[in-house]
Amino acid sequence: MQDIIVVGAGLAGLVAARTLTRAGRRVRVLEAAGRSGGRLATHRQDGFTFESGYQVLFTAYPAVQRQLDLAALDLVSIPPAAVVRRGPQVEVLGDPIRDPASLPRTLVAGSMPLPDKLRLTRLAARLKVGAPHTLLSGPDETTRAYLKRQGFGERSIQSFFAPFFGGIFLKRDLSTSARLFRYYFRMLMDGAVALPREGMDRIPEQLARELDISLNVRVERLEARGGGVSVLTGAGELQAAQVVLATDPWTAAQLLGEPVTHGSVGSTYLYYASSEPLDEQPRLLLNAEDGLINNAHWLSNAVPGRAPAGQSLLAVSVLGISPLDDAALDAHVRGELSRWYPDGAARLRTLRIQRLPHAQFAQPPEFAATLAGHATRIPGVVLASEATSMSGIQGAMESGERAAAILLGDLETQSRPRGA
Ligand SMILES: Cc1cc2nc3c(=O)[nH]c(=O)nc-3n(C[C@H](O)[C@H](O)[C@H](O)COP(=O)(O)OP(=O)(O)OC[C@H]3O[C@@H](n4cnc5c(N)ncnc54)[C@H](O)[C@@H]3O)c2cc1C
Repeated sequence: MQDIIVVGAGLAGLVAARTLTRAGRRVRVLEAAGRSGGRLATHRQDGFTFESGYQVLFTAYPAVQRQLDLAALDLVSIPPAAVVRRGPQVEVLGDPIRDPASLPRTLVAGSMPLPDKLRLTRLAARLKVGAPHTLLSGPDETTRAYLKRQGFGERSIQSFFAPFFGGIFLKRDLSTSARLFRYYFRMLMDGAVALPREGMDRIPEQLARELDISLNVRVERLEARGGGVSVLTGAGELQAAQVVLATDPWTAAQLLGEPVTHGSVGSTYLYYASSEPLDEQPRLLLNAEDGLINNAHWLSNAVPGRAPAGQSLLAVSVLGISPLDDAALDAHVRGELSRWYPDGAARLRTLRIQRLPHAQFAQPPEFAATLAGHATRIPGVVLASEATSMSGIQGAMESGERAAAILLGDLETQSRPRGA
């Protein structure tokens, strides 16, 4: 009998498995897919390198600091500024301390009137106080309601906050919990937003290095048996003393026979190649107008090497799952891009269109009160999933740490607060 079986080789499962392996346990990871990393994946196509969806790493995440060798990831920082696009009109809104080059243009940007720029500076100063995880407690409301209460006007909300934080929470209506907004705002201040030069999949690759992982093994049922757990897979039955269930929350709910999260948030991504440089901008592009595009990024401007020599790579995010078929969606997005690049949009080549119906779980105000715990109704099975914390890399990693700590009796890690 195996000491411990970890089901799922996403970030939560990998962190749990590595912690347990390092503590001397015999651990085997079973992964349904043909690779590790779960939702964190990178595609390589015709010399272009882009993620599954548009994903970035916040280096300030405390669990990232504990778990990853950041230097080995060869990170490239994305400028801490965004470009607000209204058709052909372009404005830069930057963090003047960390992106001094953006200061002159930030000062004159009408997308955020001067009183709101001052409000943003005051908000930043307030959210910089205390440990970041404390921002996950306190009164909750929607991010939109919170911004309104801080006095921000509609123009700033529509032009900046909605597309920028909509791109993080995959919901442009800013209906996500304000606690989460405050925490992410702090993460943006405390560290870089970065991409591993060679792809986000270098993160799970680093975590997986010391582990015994069986790929293409799907777990179909878990059952307490004989003081341990029977793990039924497509390839037969295995026995383990204990199991860490680290699938996505939706599969975990099926295997446990009980809900793990409430709802999911989907998103759609289009990747385009260009043989001519349509834009030299390395910053994130925010669409301030109504339309399908929420944000876009010339990845090859930010991370040279993500496109072959002489080529450019554009990632476009459309929030939600579009009812349009791929051809109609592509045509619609190209139509919007032609307002940005009248001379070049028609010559963009579509590399890939990707629909991710379960990108994150829904995180409305007070969602923390409905989070799953690590204990499950199956004796010997412990849950490791972002569903126990928050939807994102921090949530997944800290959940893996905590699940491992439960099996190891490590009280210090178990009692670490969410987000710390
Ligand atoms: C488009 C997109 C953009 C995102 N952007 C960001 C971002 O910028 N920053 C951020 O912090 N987070 C972001 N996230 C969220 C982040 O990727 C996830 O929170 C994190 O990867 C979740 O890790 P996990 O281990 O909890 O789950 P998953 O990554 O879902 O891993 C679960 C694993 O379990 C496996 N599995 C499922 N069923 C079975 C089974 N029956 N048997 C065996 N194995 C099984 C799966 O194949 C998978 O490998 C984004 C997510 C998406 C999709």
